[in-house]
Amino acid sequence: MDEQLLQRLAQILGPDGLLVGECLAERSGGYWDPRPLSAAALARPHTTAQVAAVLAACSAHRQPVVVQGGLTGAVSGQRARPGELVLSLERMDAIVELDPVERVAVVEAGCTLGRLQRAAAGWDLEFPVDIGARDSCTLGGNIATNAGGMEVLRHGMMRRHVLGLEVVLADGTVLDATSRLPKDNAGYDLKQLFIGSEGTLGVVTRAVLALIPRARDRATALVGLAGLDAALALLDRLERALGPLLVRFEAMDGPYYRHQTSRGHPAALPATFPWYALVETAGHDAERDRERLLACLEEALVEPGVGEIAVASNERERAALWRLRESFDATLVGAHCFLYDVSLPRRAIPSYVERLRAAVSGRWPQTVFFCLGHLADGNLHFFLAPQATGEVDALRAQADRLVYGPLSELGGSVSAEHGIGLDKKCWLAHSRKPAEIALMRLLKRTLDPAGILNPGRVLDA
Ligand code: ZN
Repeated sequence: MDEQLLQRLAQILGPDGLLVGECLAERSGGYWDPRPLSAAALARPHTTAQVAAVLAACSAHRQPVVVQGGLTGAVSGQRARPGELVLSLERMDAIVELDPVERVAVVEAGCTLGRLQRAAAGWDLEFPVDIGARDSCTLGGNIATNAGGMEVLRHGMMRRHVLGLEVVLADGTVLDATSRLPKDNAGYDLKQLFIGSEGTLGVVTRAVLALIPRARDRATALVGLAGLDAALALLDRLERALGPLLVRFEAMDGPYYRHQTSRGHPAALPATFPWYALVETAGHDAERDRERLLACLEEALVEPGVGEIAVASNERERAALWRLRESFDATLVGAHCFLYDVSLPRRAIPSYVERLRAAVSGRWPQTVFFCLGHLADGNLHFFLAPQATGEVDALRAQADRLVYGPLSELGGSVSAEHGIGLDKKCWLAHSRKPAEIALMRLLKRTLDPAGILNPGRVLDA
C-alpha cells in the first residue's frame, strides 16, 4: 500500500484507528473462514466524517477497500484479499436514538441486530428481522445484503424496514437520505440502490429503521410430515386459516433432524419422518391465538401426509425447538461442508430437491446432504459435505453445478438471501438477464468510477 496514503489514513483515523502489520493476523477472517485476516491495513473509523475522508483518500489513490461488519456473510463478500484496505464499522455501533412514539430507531452501521432487538423490546417494540447470527451480524451488513431470515413470510426482508439511510459514496460524498417518513415519493428512492448492493455502491454508515409493536405471545409447534408436498400443503392451509398470525414456517429434512437429535438436541417427535415443519404464530391475544394454531393443526392431521404434532408448552421447549433448527455445527459432518442458498417457485421445490438429492448421492455416494427451507419464501438452504478427497475448490465447483445448474430453467435464483459476493459471481448470469447486468455495471461505474469499493464482489466492473 502506498506509503503516502498510509500516512494520510493515520492522520484521519488517529491513534488505534489504523491497524497495520502483525496485529492484522490476530484477527479472524470471518465466521465461514478460519484463516487469519490478510490485508494491507484495517481502518476503524469512529465517525461518518472519518469514513468520508478515508474513502476520498482511497479513491484518489485507487486503493481497493473491502467493507466489514459482523463477518457472518456466507458468500465471501467480506473476505479481505491481499492488498486491500479493510474498512471495519466496528467502532460505529451506537443506537443513536429510539423513539417509541414514532416507532423509529436510528442506528450506526456497526450495531448488531441482536442489540437493536433487545433495545426495542425494552420499549415493548420489535424489530422484525431475525437471523441466527443476530448477535454477531451488524445492521449495516444486514442492509448491505438485504438480509432475510425466518420471518420474511410475515414481515418481508430488511428492505421493508429501512426508512432512511446515510451512505458514504466512493469519492467521500456523504449522502444524507435519512428520511423518517413511511411515505416519501419525492423523486427517486435512492436508499434502495444501496440496500442489497453488498457494499459495492456505497458504505452504509447510519440507518433509520421502523419498529413494530411487540407480539404478546408466540405459539410454536413441530409437525412430522411425509414429504415436501405435504409440507407445502400444510403451509397453504396455515396461511389461509391464520393470515398474519403465522410468522414462521421452517422446513427441515429427516436427515438434518436425525443428525441434530443424535447430537443432544431433544427430540420432540420420533426421528422417523422424512420431513419436519417448525411453525410459529405471533399475536396479541395469547389464548385465542394458541387455540387457533392448535385447531388448524388438528384439522390438518386428517391429511395423509401429516403424521404427528408436538406443541411447545413453555418458553424453554420453544427455545429448544429453535436451537435444533438454528445451531448447526458444520465441522461435525466432514472436512468440507458447503452451505447453499437458492430460491424457487413453490411448485418447483419438491421435484428439484428430489432430483438434487439423487444427483448429489450419485456423484458422491457417502455425501452428507441436509435440506432446510424458509418454505413460504421458496428459499432453500443445503448443507452439502461430499465425503471425498480432492481439492476443496474443485469439489465446491462440482457441487455448485449440481445445485445451481437446474435453477434457471425452473425460474429459480442462485441467491435468495445471502447475496452474490465472490462465491456466486460466476453464476450471476444464471439469474439475471444481460440487460440487467449491463445496468448494474453502469451503476457501479457511475457511483464508483475508480472501482475501489468491494471490487470484484457481485460483478466485475
Ligand atoms: Zn436462511
